[in-house]
Amino acid sequence: MTGDVRARLARITARIAAAAEAAGRDPGAVSLLLAVKTQPVGVVREAVEAGATVLGHNRAQELLRTAPQLADLPHEMHFIGHLQSNKVNQVLPWVSCVQSVDRAALATRLDNAAGREGRVVDVFAQVNTSGESTKFGVPPQETLPLTFAIGALPNLRLRGLMTIGASSPDPAVVRASFAHLADLRDAVAASGAPGTAEARELSMGMSGDLELAVAAGSTMVRVGTAVFGPREA
Ligand SMILES: *Cc1c(COP(=O)(O)O)cnc(C)c1O
Repeated sequence: MTGDVRARLARITARIAAAAEAAGRDPGAVSLLLAVKTQPVGVVREAVEAGATVLGHNRAQELLRTAPQLADLPHEMHFIGHLQSNKVNQVLPWVSCVQSVDRAALATRLDNAAGREGRVVDVFAQVNTSGESTKFGVPPQETLPLTFAIGALPNLRLRGLMTIGASSPDPAVVRASFAHLADLRDAVAASGAPGTAEARELSMGMSGDLELAVAAGSTMVRVGTAVFGPREA
């Protein structure tokens, strides 16, 4: 395994840079989050030692089990999966950002917990741009109300919007789901609502569709398989 992760990380970084250049964008404007679900801690440590700076977990239990074993390595941890309200207090101490805020009640919970910890937590509003029933996120038409609710909370900082691209063999369909998120981001930023002016980020694009996401304006791609290989689970 050693060396493998480093080489794949270099390859994905090159892929992101090539996608940005092809879209006439600055490669430095697209950051990489490594989705580390199901990976042994040793492999995750290897990735951080090879230069990965932002990690993402999508399951609370796995985060709580593994995060303490990474505490000695400098990195940023984001939560990127569906978050149950009753897990907020356990999850929050281990993350700097929650990308999967999909309801105002969850935002309120996060705000309260962040306030108790005396810090500000970064969040993204997750939008279900594909309309697929298997995906979480607010329906697109509820994006503005959700971001306004987040923007009004003192202990959360809205960084932008997050989506999972459409599961379709047709690149035009996938591209449309990303373009939709970019349009919603523009609407949020133009709203003038408190706490939304700086919410410019777009977390979108994974191993299979990051080129389409970068072309549509992604500022953060979330990659697992392309760096770690296929998951068993
Ligand atoms: C697993 C995961 C990813 C990465 O997906 P890959 O196809 O393995 O690159 C991105 N975002 C979320 C929310 C995930 O759970």
